[in-house]
Amino acid sequence: MNEGLALLYELQLADSGIRDRERALAALDDGSGSRAELAAAEHRLAAAEKRLHDDQTTLRDKELRLASIEQEQADKHKKAYGGLVSDPKELAALERKIEELTQLKSKLEDEILALMDSVEEQRASVVALREEVERLRARAADVEEHYRMERTRLEQEIQELQARRTELAAQAPPQLLAMYEQLRQRLGGVAVAGVVDGRCNACHNAVPRDMIDRIPRSEMPIRCETCRRILWVVS
Ligand SMILES: [Zn+2]
Repeated sequence: MNEGLALLYELQLADSGIRDRERALAALDDGSGSRAELAAAEHRLAAAEKRLHDDQTTLRDKELRLASIEQEQADKHKKAYGGLVSDPKELAALERKIEELTQLKSKLEDEILALMDSVEEQRASVVALREEVERLRARAADVEEHYRMERTRLEQEIQELQARRTELAAQAPPQLLAMYEQLRQRLGGVAVAGVVDGRCNACHNAVPRDMIDRIPRSEMPIRCETCRRILWVVS
């Protein structure tokens, strides 16, 4: 067996392994998308909570106002019909005032009812938004945890493969190594292709039988007729 070529094939495996892991590393989701989604949901929740709080305050104010109108109305009623007012003008003025208060009360009651409905709806929507925020927070944490684990694993594997590459490159015959590096640069990072099931596993074209037989023993690298990569028979 041509030890030099066997070594180049090992070197190629290390280099391809490094490249695959570097690509995987670049494609990893670091969780920034999930974080942004979480931040947007938190923003919506804060706005909904503020609106709910404001409407609850308005509702309380209106209820207080209603109570004070009811009180005023009762006072006026007592005054008008308690036998204390004998002047018809004063009585008429009081009755007008009572009527005014009745209308005001009715309007306020309508507003309070509408506001109560709205507050109920908003409470439900705040609950739903809180759940949404919790769900997104858990998901963002998951994505980030997965990212940290995967990054650590990939970086460690890259380090190991780089150490292996250095070791192999030191053992390879200098001329073969130079050829390897040149081809790798020209051919998209792959200088050595394995022959699998009678085909070059880089370009997938068939390799003639007699060529395959010569590969392991040949002193000179045998190259794929189609893609020009150095071929090696994977045992
Ligand atoms: Zn090929």
